[in-house]
Amino acid sequence: MNQTIFEEKGIIFNIQRYSIHDGPGIRTNVFIKGCPLRCKWCCNPESQNIQIENMLDADGPGSTPVGREVTVREVLEEVAKDSRYYYRSGGGVTLTGGECMVQPSFACAIMEACHEYHINTAIETTSFATSEVVKRFIPLVDYWLMDIKHMDSEKHKLYTGQPNDLILQNAKYIADHHPDLTIRVPVIPGVNDTEEEIDAIAKFADSLGKGAKALHLLPYHRLGEDKYRRLGRSYFLMGLEPLSQERMLQLKKVAEKYRLPVQIGG
Ligand code: SF4
Repeated sequence: MNQTIFEEKGIIFNIQRYSIHDGPGIRTNVFIKGCPLRCKWCCNPESQNIQIENMLDADGPGSTPVGREVTVREVLEEVAKDSRYYYRSGGGVTLTGGECMVQPSFACAIMEACHEYHINTAIETTSFATSEVVKRFIPLVDYWLMDIKHMDSEKHKLYTGQPNDLILQNAKYIADHHPDLTIRVPVIPGVNDTEEEIDAIAKFADSLGKGAKALHLLPYHRLGEDKYRRLGRSYFLMGLEPLSQERMLQLKKVAEKYRLPVQIGG
């Protein structure tokens, strides 16, 4: 066993046990800090800056630092507590954030350590990273959840701060080289919720290689809204209502024209 991976350090802002929405089975989500995108709807704005920052407390006048430096050993000590649930449910560990590819050495070391302990790995990612980074992740990820937010690069840039070409290029590579890729679409009212926009993403997902296995449509929610105030930032989508279940079902039908199985939610 390569012991040095356990001493690798990185910045996380949360470890959440008993998750059932970010990969198969019961999982522990490790939230890695830092993201190159700035999605207007991001429900974890405290994830975006890689630096540790202060956030006002939800229920009082004080504030608490968000983020802490940890070693892979410390992460493993925490996630291994639920090993028996992973084995029984087919679950494991999911690296989310933020964007785990922002701290590639740390993220890869966590997954390598998980595999040493026979713990399944998943990532929840936009994969906005160089091809070298993507290639490092391929052998270490068991289940790849990848967001595609818009097929129009201009709109992608407007709503996330970055164009989509690198993401789409990486999606093709991943589907050709990884056996289990799920494309996830956060469906945001006024951003990508027309039939044409969902059709374009579903068509692209359908065109991907054999590793692409499913398409998930994730309804917009407002759970992160208050965090912007607590970070002293403005929330661009303030007051925006989530889509109805009926509308989500209509969009699901649009995506179902293609080969990949489609579901609403993760
Ligand atoms: S990619 Fe995810 S973590 Fe990054 S800004 Fe967008 S929603 Fe937030």
